[in-house]
Amino acid sequence: MAVVDPLIELRGVNKHYGALHVLQDIHLTVGRGEVVVVIGPSGSGKSTLCRAMNRLEAVESGEIRIDGQPLPEEGKALAKLRAEVGMVFQSFNLFAHKTVLANVSLAQVKVRKRGKDEADRRSRELLDRVGLAAHADKFPAQLSGGQQQRVAIARALAMDPKALLFDEPTSALDPEMINEVLEVMRQLAQEGMTMVVVTHEMGFARSAANRVVFMADGRIVEDREPEAFFTTPNSDRAKDFLSKIL
Ligand code: ADP
Ligand code: MG
Repeated sequence: MAVVDPLIELRGVNKHYGALHVLQDIHLTVGRGEVVVVIGPSGSGKSTLCRAMNRLEAVESGEIRIDGQPLPEEGKALAKLRAEVGMVFQSFNLFAHKTVLANVSLAQVKVRKRGKDEADRRSRELLDRVGLAAHADKFPAQLSGGQQQRVAIARALAMDPKALLFDEPTSALDPEMINEVLEVMRQLAQEGMTMVVVTHEMGFARSAANRVVFMADGRIVEDREPEAFFTTPNSDRAKDFLSKIL
């Protein structure tokens, strides 16, 4: 689909794990302010695609650009890129021995070179935004899964990212906690954050996504507006997938 103001661009991207061709000639453009939901069967390459976008995984061929710039390969430039294209994982990945506030402040000091007071001030603002102002001084284990995931989102936001990648952010959560996380993500989408979201939450895809990308066997099989995709999937793979989950 034509994108007006590209922020994330993948052109002819390929990657193998041994004999497995996990990303096959991927072409994908995510526009500034767009929300792209990536769905597809387990093992289709969704996580690898996400991780390629901030170089948690290197690719073998093709081009990946963020805001017009090729991905840096290492060093400070790569650390900065990973701050600008933040990632939220299924498993939260918070530091267990640090407070919620410290979890959100740490990379601000290390990567963004903010003073501690400034970082803490920003952290408290963001914790308030995700509904956790009262929990700043607790440790992760004292929070529910949904609260921990909201801390992880605040931590990513603290880097002032250009885009956020979410890899199944609600898959590890008990059902009653899923909505509080999706609600924060909906809010971010409304505020214009560029987001790539791997999820099985089809309600979120329908209501918040500008586009749905359907992957199977390392390929992008469909890249369409959500309503069109869900009501009239073009491919047999997508029809089959949707018949199993809807
Ligand atoms: P998805 O997120 O859609 O479930 P992944 O991107 O995690 O898919 O994985 C795609 C395929 O690549 C799977 O078959 C998986 O087993 C394989 N794979 C993922 N990571 C690795 C790795 N580090 N080494 C070898 N194979 C991997
Ligand atoms: Mg995955």
